Amino acid sequence: MGGHPTADIERMEFQLGLRRRGISDQAVLRAMDEVPREYFVAAELADSAYADQALPIACGQTISQPYVVAYMTEQLEVVAQHRVLEIGTGSGYQAAVLSRIVREVVSVERYRTLANLARERLKTLGYSNVDIVAGDGFAGAPERAPFDRIIVTAAAERVPDALVEQLGEGGKLVLPLGPRDGPQYIVKLSKAATGELTREKLIAVRFVPLLPGKAREL
Ligand code: SAH
Repeated sequence: MGGHPTADIERMEFQLGLRRRGISDQAVLRAMDEVPREYFVAAELADSAYADQALPIACGQTISQPYVVAYMTEQLEVVAQHRVLEIGTGSGYQAAVLSRIVREVVSVERYRTLANLARERLKTLGYSNVDIVAGDGFAGAPERAPFDRIIVTAAAERVPDALVEQLGEGGKLVLPLGPRDGPQYIVKLSKAATGELTREKLIAVRFVPLLPGKAREL
């Protein structure tokens, strides 16, 4: 950041890499360009912030690979008036990217430590339309439902019922599904006005598991 020439080249390559891999939604590419990923990782990992890889964060969790963040955001088909629920705040990076496109993001994280760090970070960056809640994502955020879009950034074996319930008519839910150590895929569920769900299986991925309950404090 800050106009350093190397950093500028890195960020240009970051954008090109996303386009090369097929990300074409202009709003998504713009949001990926706007959010400084180096602020979402530990200082000693800042040099790797624009490499297309997942990186470790606190509490044994990871910030997702940029391509997967862009891909899931694109698949979510978000527009400016949407309210979005995210499960798995982690570093807050995915929430930050969404916040550049939509009206409001509510993000639930089971580690209070991560929730607090992400909240501070987003406040510092001035991303004021994100609300981070420490809680169990399996329950969603019923008091804030319905949501136009829901994204889950940890892998579950099955789609949590509460999330399907909290999805509005015409809503879309994008999540990684699959066993902890087995094959996982991004799945997109679309809810028709009749309440009927259709399911699409997308790309293969590898995510940390969606774990039940709020974490004991670390
Ligand atoms: N979206 C994040 C990546 C998160 S990694 C980012 O952009 O950095 C997955 C996160 O899901 C972890 O922080 C993990 O603690 C959280 N998580 C796992 N199970 C959860 C649950 N039941 N409720 C809420 N968060 C959960």
